[in-house]
Amino acid sequence: MMKRSRLMSLLVGGVFCVAVMSLYRMLELMQRAELQQHREKPAEQVDQGLSRLQQKIDRLEHLLNDNNRMVATLRDSLLHRKASWEKGGGGVNVSSDSAHSRANALPGCRLAEEMKDGTDGVQLLDVYDLLPFDNPDGGAWKQGFEISYHDNQWANQPLEVFLVPHSHNDPGWLKTFDGYYQDQTRHILDNMLVRLSEDSRRKMIWAEISYFSKWWNEIDEQKREMVKRLLGAGQLELVTGGWVMADEANSHYFALLDQLMEGHQWMQRHLGVRPSSGWAIDPFGHSPSMSYLLKGAGLRDMVIQRVHYAVKKHFARQQTLEFLWRQSWDSSPRSDITCHMMPFYSYDVPHTCGPNPAVCCQFDFHRLPGRRVMCPWKIPPQPITEQNVQERALLLLDQYRQKSRLFSSPVLLVPLGDDFRFVESSEWDVQFSNYQKLFDYFDQHPELHVKARFGTLSDYFLALHQHLSAAGTTLPTLRGDFFTYADRDDHYWSGYFTSRPFYKRLDRTLEATLRATEILFSLTLAEMRRFHGDGHLVADFPARDHFLHLTAARRNLALFQHHDAVTGTARDPVVVDYGTRLFHSILNLRQVLQSSAHWLLLLDKSQYHHDQLKPFMQMDDVIAAQDSLPQKTTLTLTDEPRSLIVFNPTEQLRTSVVSVVIDSPDAHVVDAETGRPMAAQISAVWAEPSKASTEAFQLDFVAQLPPLSLVIYHVTRASVGSAQRVQYTFNRHGNPLTLKSEHFQVSSLEGPEADAPLSLSNKHVQIWSSPESGLLQKLRLQSGLVRQVQVQFLWYGTTSSRDKSGAYLFMPGPEGAQLYSSSEPPLVRVSRGPIFSDITSCFRHFTHRVRLYHLDGHAGRSLEISNMVDIRSEINRELSMRLVSNVANGNRFYSDLNGFQMQQRRTLAKLPLQANFYPMSSSAFVQDSVSRMSLLSAQSQAVAALRPGELEVVLDRRLQQDDNRGLGQGVTDNKLTASLYQLLLEDRRGGAQEVGGASVEHLSLLAHLNSLSLCHPPITMVAPINDQLPKLHPFLPLHSSLPCDVHLLNLRTLEDTQEAGSPSQEVALLLHRKGFDCGSAPQPSLECTWSAHEEVNLDDLFSPLRFRSLRRSGLTLLREDDESETARQQQQRHITHLRPMEISAFRVEID
Ligand SMILES: [Zn+2]
Repeated sequence: MMKRSRLMSLLVGGVFCVAVMSLYRMLELMQRAELQQHREKPAEQVDQGLSRLQQKIDRLEHLLNDNNRMVATLRDSLLHRKASWEKGGGGVNVSSDSAHSRANALPGCRLAEEMKDGTDGVQLLDVYDLLPFDNPDGGAWKQGFEISYHDNQWANQPLEVFLVPHSHNDPGWLKTFDGYYQDQTRHILDNMLVRLSEDSRRKMIWAEISYFSKWWNEIDEQKREMVKRLLGAGQLELVTGGWVMADEANSHYFALLDQLMEGHQWMQRHLGVRPSSGWAIDPFGHSPSMSYLLKGAGLRDMVIQRVHYAVKKHFARQQTLEFLWRQSWDSSPRSDITCHMMPFYSYDVPHTCGPNPAVCCQFDFHRLPGRRVMCPWKIPPQPITEQNVQERALLLLDQYRQKSRLFSSPVLLVPLGDDFRFVESSEWDVQFSNYQKLFDYFDQHPELHVKARFGTLSDYFLALHQHLSAAGTTLPTLRGDFFTYADRDDHYWSGYFTSRPFYKRLDRTLEATLRATEILFSLTLAEMRRFHGDGHLVADFPARDHFLHLTAARRNLALFQHHDAVTGTARDPVVVDYGTRLFHSILNLRQVLQSSAHWLLLLDKSQYHHDQLKPFMQMDDVIAAQDSLPQKTTLTLTDEPRSLIVFNPTEQLRTSVVSVVIDSPDAHVVDAETGRPMAAQISAVWAEPSKASTEAFQLDFVAQLPPLSLVIYHVTRASVGSAQRVQYTFNRHGNPLTLKSEHFQVSSLEGPEADAPLSLSNKHVQIWSSPESGLLQKLRLQSGLVRQVQVQFLWYGTTSSRDKSGAYLFMPGPEGAQLYSSSEPPLVRVSRGPIFSDITSCFRHFTHRVRLYHLDGHAGRSLEISNMVDIRSEINRELSMRLVSNVANGNRFYSDLNGFQMQQRRTLAKLPLQANFYPMSSSAFVQDSVSRMSLLSAQSQAVAALRPGELEVVLDRRLQQDDNRGLGQGVTDNKLTASLYQLLLEDRRGGAQEVGGASVEHLSLLAHLNSLSLCHPPITMVAPINDQLPKLHPFLPLHSSLPCDVHLLNLRTLEDTQEAGSPSQEVALLLHRKGFDCGSAPQPSLECTWSAHEEVNLDDLFSPLRFRSLRRSGLTLLREDDESETARQQQQRHITHLRPMEISAFRVEID
């Protein structure tokens, strides 16, 4: 109360002071104007004086306006503050320091505020504004320009060429991972050992650890020693070191980091080496989230390739193909990584030696006459002989020199390879021996001023950095991302943002299951060690088996991040192979979850017994096959309580609705510990859209779940009519309905009632929907903010010209999207219950549902949207869902990159429709000065905002033809596909204007919390009906929620250093401190807190868990990245820095 009145008087005083001071300043200026007027001579200067006076009056008027605006702003903020006090929120919810200014009020957003003022370097969005995208013919380099040079250009500084042999091995595409391995990859690696060992000048780089580790497992000790020798000698380099060369559009940052960690950990364990350079030549567009992770994992340099041809050309002209890639939100150079962008069309030999593919192809000696591959430019390579070596060497040098002109240094990177190259022994021969002759020729002719040799990627970057530091120059900085990729003409690769959406969703299901299992397993091991007191595990607990399941699941999720897997761009049988891996891993992880939970919940631990065939608990649903959706099991209820165990995988206390299917229309739920009855509702399970099942019923109850807890509930059958049942109303225009339900009150809307808008509301929000379609039309917040938000469904077809849509490309026809229409009106079903109400629209191709929860916490603030889509009857069609609002966002919107950060997008009329689609892994929003509309999603797909106020996601695509990128088939393996979202409308205060360049925006805290709940739903397990059931008690590892902006990304048990395949006591603790929006202070305030400081005490955060040891490390937990012993001792109290937007990794032992 004291604080409040002091602040009020401060603010009132402030307004008064500003007003007085500005009046004083005006008087002063007027006086000065008058004085000057007197000093002027009259007569001939009267005219001049008058006009000057006029100017001054103008200036005063301007000043007055400024002052008025300032006073108004102050008054607004005063009113806003007063209102928030009156609502009893007590201002903002800060755990330390009281609030004065807006930036202080929401400390985590300070960083973003700083960034808005200081943008330096190149911003990719500005490049997009600048480029004409006119695609003129550039001659030999079709998408570029003629390059010229002087022969004496390298006289002082010779051209230094590094020819880097590589073989691009897709872990699944046309063949499965194992198929490729058997047919190609193992031969490549076998031959590599022999051929590199023959000549110490030969080099090779390798990227995919999934393949490398598989091969390693099969080779003998002698060969393993050879590998280590080659690595030590710098002849072989493992680049990136990820499990795969990951897709950067659809992948979520959890999985991106996890696959990197899996690869790096493997390298450290088996080879004792770590990667220093990144190599991403085939992902279809590039994300700064990836560069952030690489930098955090200790890499210094990286190469990217698939970038829009017009952007490449622009960068080539400016000699900025090499740059320091900086995070948009980072005002420091901390996240900078040196990035090399390959200039030409592809990573194959014709497009890497220089600008002319017809010439470069002649230096791919795998295409020598008589071999299997040919040059499409019709000029074959020649074997290098004494007779032709001069002519050949000069021809190649000309290409090298032209390419070098595109870079600011005389150090030149020339990759030598292609997909699955160097399979046959003879290919190694022809490439290495012919190039060596050319290199020898250059060496013998110093007047050419060129030094060429085989090199690894790190050889190249080392030389580059040496040159840069010798020249005293640095590379330019760049911010932004490289989506959406086009390789030629209007061929934009935005189709793969949605292709195979069933598996994109399955990917996220595995990801959530893996994270939950990792955390619970790590906590279980820690509990067991503490329980025994001697650090030993429980003998009967299959820790090793479980760890093997975990490892396999990490690797299957990692494999699926490959750029032909989660992208949906593999052949049908390969897709089934991936799906089967994901499916099996989900099943295996569920076993680990169940048995960990079993031990944690037992009151008397001596009763623990593991029986693989008879698990103590079951999940509440069943997934029947890799291509089917989960189905809830119907639980049999009796008068004896049935135990439900619910795991909250999030670090927040949350109010969740737990949903199970039971065999009775009446049930009673209590908290098993306290006996407290839980609010519940019973709804129908719909056998058909208007026919309720008489055997199965849905029970929903509100659960209060502490962070990372396992909570037990008892469900019993209740007396008839005791449970609250949902009431239904149906609406179908035109056709009368035959309604069937014995257990529920069902009515049909008739007469004028049937034409009134449908409306649902809770205490936070009210919605109105169309009575004909049931689709959303309008939203109103409790604050009074009203926005039109119309949900529409649309079809896209494909163009009638030669190049049609396929797995990669989106090539819609010129007519664009057509509004979805159906001959029969949809069935609209409205349900009203005490826990939630919803409106379901059943169309022929999809069922769409909008649900409103009647809950107090953040779950009640948003609308849950779910779709069940089936377009298997269609030909060359894509279905999209569009939100049409009156948010005045202009052509700007925001979509996330890998769930890690938000990126501004600008919808540009100069680009074709398909170019304005972007990837969305978890969220997108549009905003104006007073409101923001966010769409949070539980799966990846394409997003666009084609007109102001709109936001659109592509739900599924069915395409009959190949799109000429090598896949050789269409996408026709569609399935019944689910998608899930939350729609959040929020008030905003200020921050509407953009300040310089692209503004950095974040999700609001409320949106972060909703997204967390959406992506990590509670996991429900069921105990068997058994009156001999041992006594269980809840597991509550944390005293309180983590701060709202701190996300527990993972708690991942590391492999034992001695005993392979066994869990160690060490755990990787990964924390992500999120950036959040300053413009939307949540009202009412959130349950969790956030801190004004970067400094955090981890013991406090995780209390009562104790960390016996804690070391900060690199993001992939390589031992040499661990902080030193002295640094560790200095921070015995486990106080550490968590910077906004940053992920921090610690190696910990939990006590
Ligand atoms: Zn590839």
